[in-house]
Amino acid sequence: MSDALPRQVAVRVEGVGKGYGAGERRVEVLRAIDLDVAQGEMLALVGPSGVGKSTFLHLLGLLDQPDAGRIELFGQDIGALSARERARWRNLRIGYVFQFHGLLGEFTLQENVAMPLLIAGSGRRAAMDRAQELGMAVGLSHRLEHFPDQLSGGEQQRGAIARALVAGPTLLLADEPTGNLDSATAGAVFEMLRNLHLSRGLTSVIVTHNAGLAARCDRILRLTAVGLEAA
Ligand code: ADP
Ligand code: MG
Repeated sequence: MSDALPRQVAVRVEGVGKGYGAGERRVEVLRAIDLDVAQGEMLALVGPSGVGKSTFLHLLGLLDQPDAGRIELFGQDIGALSARERARWRNLRIGYVFQFHGLLGEFTLQENVAMPLLIAGSGRRAAMDRAQELGMAVGLSHRLEHFPDQLSGGEQQRGAIARALVAGPTLLLADEPTGNLDSATAGAVFEMLRNLHLSRGLTSVIVTHNAGLAARCDRILRLTAVGLEAA
């Protein structure tokens, strides 16, 4: 591919505002946020606790809707999607990793990883095969039959990442994915995330408090009460 080709914009945020509550209890969290993330970029989002990083990621991940402004993902104005289309985007096109792994305790790791495909209506066999591949990709082939409470913190987070990627999303959103891990484990999980980002051609937005991990991303932005700024 020629270097002269401009990179496509994967995420475009224009004038986005979001608050919670009504009347005297109303809290404005995000005001007039603008952001472009290029296709293939891995963006680190940092900023103090309570500033609105999770709120912002929820908007990108279609878990919540802005009060003002517009968000485009891969050229699609997501405000124009029906509820059904939004659910399908969330399930198949967006991988979301939270600080707490969220694996379901009554299912094996492989079943947990297969869950997005099962929900989307894939056959069990195909979903379980695909989950096995993803389990391998995150280094958990030997843990597929285990239940979440039999896994270490790092393994649980690897499982959550495998589940986020099993349906082949193009956008990966991770909200402090290594926030609960000791620093060596956090470094290893982050390295894996970076490698998966590259090998799968993802566009990624990663919220992290860890400056060393943020520095491994392509770009760092800081969210403050005023807005987004280069960090
Ligand atoms: P961060 O992830 O940067 O720590 P959050 O996005 O979680 O920040 O929260 C930003 C602000 O919005 C905080 O003041 C928080 O209390 C408030 N907030 C978050 N979610 C809700 C909600 N569902 N209802 C009311 N306030 C909320
Ligand atoms: Mg948060």
